[in-house]
Amino acid sequence: MLIFKEVATLQTWLDAARGKGRIIGFAPTMGALHDGHLELIRMAKRDGCLAVASIFVNPTQFNDPKDLEKYPRLPEKDTALLISADCDALFMPPVAEVYPPGVDLTLDLDFGHLDKVMEGEFRPGHFKGMATVVHRLLDIVKPHRLYMGQKDFQQLSIVRDMIRQLRLPVQLVMCPTVREPDGLAMSSRNMRLTPALRAVAPVIYQTMQWAQAALRQQSASEVQHEAMRRLAAAGLKPEYFDVVDGVSLLPVRQWSDSDFIVACVAAFAGDVRLIDNLVLKGQ
Ligand code: AMP
Repeated sequence: MLIFKEVATLQTWLDAARGKGRIIGFAPTMGALHDGHLELIRMAKRDGCLAVASIFVNPTQFNDPKDLEKYPRLPEKDTALLISADCDALFMPPVAEVYPPGVDLTLDLDFGHLDKVMEGEFRPGHFKGMATVVHRLLDIVKPHRLYMGQKDFQQLSIVRDMIRQLRLPVQLVMCPTVREPDGLAMSSRNMRLTPALRAVAPVIYQTMQWAQAALRQQSASEVQHEAMRRLAAAGLKPEYFDVVDGVSLLPVRQWSDSDFIVACVAAFAGDVRLIDNLVLKGQ
């Protein structure tokens, strides 16, 4: 696996690969890699791509400076994991390569309500920072295919909308959420959970599964209310449990409202903020 820290050297190598007709599959990450990230690489390889990963802890998408500071950074371990997944290249740039001083690369698109609800409500500025960095990384790597996880469902919806609005020549590929055996969605943040909170955290998945069955009999607001109660009773601090249409991200009132319904959750386990989602109906 080749490791690049500079845009120019990465682009020279990518241009040569493109010239040889290689299809480039790109998976942007913030590191502290786990099997969920590696699945993006494996999927790109299965699709016959030259797999390129990036590790960049993007300062502009952290609304809480403490969260940025505490974000785990494990470059050596990450490199070994990417090699084990047969990744072809890793782009690990310093901040100045992504955001050259004096150049304003902020992307200011109107995502309608897609970036106002759920994460958008609780993490102001997060999606603007996320869209800016994904746009910048796409501009650097110019991949044919962009691999992103369903784990960040709202993020995917916004990136899909960005690609549509800007008519970017890239195909977005969604990878299903990879979970621990007890249902907890793999996340770089899980390593910060105490053993006691790690034991409690699977209640997020259990509650979404409960909601899937319950929504057939109860209204979405009843399900939402009971789900929040269950999360809190288990010792988590839920921020939201929203039952939304999978395309518009607007709330649904009941099972029959949409063919594609997703439950999206954010909850604190101690000071670790966890997010997850489950498709309750459709797709
Ligand atoms: P992050 O490093 O958290 O920014 O995530 C980088 C990419 O990996 C994003 O596209 C995530 O959606 C994806 N990802 C993170 N966790 C998982 C998971 N458990 N399963 C599948 N994809 C994931």
